[in-house]
Amino acid sequence: MRRKLVAGNWKMHGTRADAAQLLRGIVEGTDRLLAAELLVCPPFVYLIEAVTALRGSPIAVGAQDVCGEAQQGAYTGEVSASMLADAGCKYVIVGHSERRMVYGESDGRVASKFKAAQQAGLIPILCVGETAAAHDAGETRAVVRRQLEAVFDAVGVTAFGSAVIAYEPVWAIGTGKTATPSHAQEVQAYLRTLVAGRDAKIAASLRVLYGGSVKPGNAAELFSMPDVDGGLIGGASLAVDDFVAICRAAGRVH
Ligand code: PEP
Repeated sequence: MRRKLVAGNWKMHGTRADAAQLLRGIVEGTDRLLAAELLVCPPFVYLIEAVTALRGSPIAVGAQDVCGEAQQGAYTGEVSASMLADAGCKYVIVGHSERRMVYGESDGRVASKFKAAQQAGLIPILCVGETAAAHDAGETRAVVRRQLEAVFDAVGVTAFGSAVIAYEPVWAIGTGKTATPSHAQEVQAYLRTLVAGRDAKIAASLRVLYGGSVKPGNAAELFSMPDVDGGLIGGASLAVDDFVAICRAAGRVH
């Protein structure tokens, strides 16, 4: 059985004091909640403090992005996967739609980040998802397939033995327009089928998260879908009560 994973993507929000308060609240609110795996992804500058604050708790720390070019070198402004691992991170998000759209990250660049993350022992969370226009044009499957196949081409299917996929329809991110549980299920089952076409065993154990306006009020229903193995949570991960409620929803359904 796949253990649910709930990951909070804090994006570029808050201060150092906010981060400390949020971490304290999450630790207190999720004490003894072991049915689901929990993860927070703060901005780079707060990662070490998060690792320190969460030491002794089962909550993992991840980064929101990583350098895809190298582990060390002349790459001003970048942070390598080996640095993230050294700082105590377990996961890293790659290919978030904000990186793809605001910073023009191509499928190939996302695949390089995925590869660099795994080379340093991190677990990549590969985000895929279609824009509103692609959704309306009925191109959802074609888009997520292209995004996934770029990573297959770079690292092969076996790399998905230690990775997570997050289906994040762009039209649902930060908009309050959550995908229906049946839409998330349909696309996420399709993603699993694409992996299964290459390796059925890896597909069966691979966690596929849903992300896009998950809230306490819709989390349980989304997480009850057979191919929704948890959530990548943006806005709601910044409010202790909301994030804790979503974590609890994941802990209730199996
Ligand atoms: C995200 O940014 O990954 C996300 C899912 O955001 P939100 O939950 O705010 O839609």
